[in-house]
Amino acid sequence: MSSQALSFFRSVNKLNLHEYQAKNIFRQFGIPVPHGLLVNEPGRAFQAARSIKGPPWVVKAQVHAGARGKAGGVKIVNDLDVVEQAAQSMIGQRIITNQTGPAGVMVNQVLVEEGVEIEREFYLSMAINRRNARPTMIFSPVGGVEIEEVMLEYPDLILIERPDPVTGWMPFQARNLLYRLDPLPSPEAIDNITFIAAQVFEIFLRYDCSLIEINPLVITREGKVIALDVKISIDDNASFRQEKIFQLDDKAGKDPLELQAEEYGINYIHLDGNVGVLVNGAGLAMATMDIIKQTGARPANFLDVGGGANEETISRGFEIILKDRHVKAILINIFGGILRCDELAKGVLAALKRMEIHVPLVIRLQGTRVEEGREILKNSDLKFLVAKDLAEAAKLVAEQVS
Ligand code: GDP
Ligand code: MN
Repeated sequence: MSSQALSFFRSVNKLNLHEYQAKNIFRQFGIPVPHGLLVNEPGRAFQAARSIKGPPWVVKAQVHAGARGKAGGVKIVNDLDVVEQAAQSMIGQRIITNQTGPAGVMVNQVLVEEGVEIEREFYLSMAINRRNARPTMIFSPVGGVEIEEVMLEYPDLILIERPDPVTGWMPFQARNLLYRLDPLPSPEAIDNITFIAAQVFEIFLRYDCSLIEINPLVITREGKVIALDVKISIDDNASFRQEKIFQLDDKAGKDPLELQAEEYGINYIHLDGNVGVLVNGAGLAMATMDIIKQTGARPANFLDVGGGANEETISRGFEIILKDRHVKAILINIFGGILRCDELAKGVLAALKRMEIHVPLVIRLQGTRVEEGREILKNSDLKFLVAKDLAEAAKLVAEQVS
């Protein structure tokens, strides 16, 4: 499915670590990162910097978003007395980068680090290539720049190596990447980056990562190789065997409705449209969102109450949708498979009776005992529009919000 819904779905199915957490993992695997201390009050930043080599010091906002540098979330400070001010400018403030959306994200902590003098910057990452379902190492001599930009402007400078599933990552693969650099780094630097690439692969496997990104990976003026900025994302499907790392999950900055849905066991993703969507089944939810978009309307959410939809889950679904003030109409699209449509219709009615719903509702039912289900809806005194198929449902709901 070339659906936008699908990419939303994917982007949520992972645990993002903060930079300092990712760097702690790097340290455990012997990858050099700058010395640093985490600070959650500006008043502590001075003390932290004093115990760290400098100047310069670097103060970095710890948020789940990249491109902080351009947004004031990374400050290089040459004067010890200015470190606190830099921390003050971040902690308790929202930072808006091109990855956060217009509302930005709240900064609760900053990392105070030893600054380094950069000689060369590279990009190195490992991610799952979904086309061949294998991890892929991406390396570029253009570091410190967003990789999407490099891909557009200098596609020739994106270098790729794939570990063989049988042998794992091999050192020659790192050398394949590095011997294409001009000028060639020193033999020590090549050895160090070769080691780092191998360790990145180890971490990737050990923690069921979906992404490890070092941007930039630098060679310093003194010739040392250091991972200056690190991002790690972990596949949610591995949460059952990665319990320890999932305890690091930072709920701050997450959407409150998404957190509540998580508690209810409902798959919910908050979007920026005004058509609330309540569906059973993820595939059906994506198709529903696609068809809403085709009418020109925009979904306010992705919401899958799951296969075993009942009065309880449907009520909870409504509760979450209605808390979003942007919702101007709701489309309920239910496929009665294991659960019959008449049972579902009763569930929807019971849920509707339990709560005040002040926006128009469009409902489309399909599946086993659909006629009985429609009859139950028709005979109720609650007001809603019953659509005969999904196309009509989408059209009706789009009319309600236009
Ligand atoms: P991002 O913007 O969120 O990706 O944050 P980064 O940690 O990558 O920092 C942004 C940029 O700040 C980097 O690409 C570097 O150019 C610069 N930077 C970060 N740390 C240092 C440092 O210790 N020394 C120097 N000279 N520059 C740094
Ligand atoms: Mn970066």
